[in-house]
Amino acid sequence: MAHHPRPPPPPIERVVFDDYVIRTWYTSPYPIQAPTLWICHGCLKYMRSAHTFHAHRRTCTYTHPPGRKVYQRGAHILWEVDGAQEKLYVQNLCLLGKLFIDHKTVFFDVAPFWAYVLTDASSQFDHVLGFFSKEKVSYDHYNLACIVVFPPYQRRGYGTLLMEYSYYLSRSDDTPGTPERPLSDLGLKGYMAYWSAQLVRTLLAAYSPEGAMIRAILAGHKPPPPHSMPTSQSPRRRRQRRGGWAGEERAERPDEPLASIPHASIPMNTTLARIADAAGLRSDDATLALAHAGLLNSTSSSTFVLSLEAIQQAAQRLSLRPPILDVGYCL
Ligand SMILES: [Zn+2]
Repeated sequence: MAHHPRPPPPPIERVVFDDYVIRTWYTSPYPIQAPTLWICHGCLKYMRSAHTFHAHRRTCTYTHPPGRKVYQRGAHILWEVDGAQEKLYVQNLCLLGKLFIDHKTVFFDVAPFWAYVLTDASSQFDHVLGFFSKEKVSYDHYNLACIVVFPPYQRRGYGTLLMEYSYYLSRSDDTPGTPERPLSDLGLKGYMAYWSAQLVRTLLAAYSPEGAMIRAILAGHKPPPPHSMPTSQSPRRRRQRRGGWAGEERAERPDEPLASIPHASIPMNTTLARIADAAGLRSDDATLALAHAGLLNSTSSSTFVLSLEAIQQAAQRLSLRPPILDVGYCL
């Protein structure tokens, strides 16, 4: 008997989300497949018509993601949302995110995951900019499952902030974390920038007066500590209501980390494993980062001789900046 399958449903071409009409990049297994999906920017519910959407908006009570604040700096807040408690919200978040990433991700069994959602506040509303998901328990030491910054908000440092926070969360683990593979092209590009910046900041810090701990790790004298960020981190404090987004502020900062480093005369002689430990990165990620930073050109494969000059040149090539995440604002 001839089989006549129904034609495939039309892909979702665009989503209307928080005053933006966003052209989609990839498919997502929404139960509704319509050329235009209307997404509530409060609860992330999806609808096929403007009429339904506007009716829903009149009754929707969400003004921010359903979770607890874990980071707040000025108008920017990171929310931790439990996939077990907020199943529908996290499912909808993942479905929306999938429109902008091309690899497999979780959609329906979200209970074993946290979602960390970044928002920007207006007077009445915290607008979702992007998120990352993370397994509550990862035997592979994954500190991030998938990461998405929605297209209207890309190229402003939000992805970097999310990556930095994912490493901040896993800093006290015995084994350095790493994002789940495969990475999207955009994800790999972002991580390469993050890893190489983290690595060069660590190596620069080793030459600073406060870098004794890092020098000890690089010299093999000390077991790696909990994987704290190596550059000068302010003590835990709460400073809220200070204006400004770090991504904008940092352009005005002078290159003080470079200028304040004394000129050490002894080049560092160390190994890849120690560099990775000091930077809180997995060895293979650190290797990629060293290559990206142009520092993987020593004669021996197991030992590195890293002069301050070479590290400073790498910092200049990378246009190195301080981290965007300021742990002083973690709640
Ligand atoms: Zn809603």
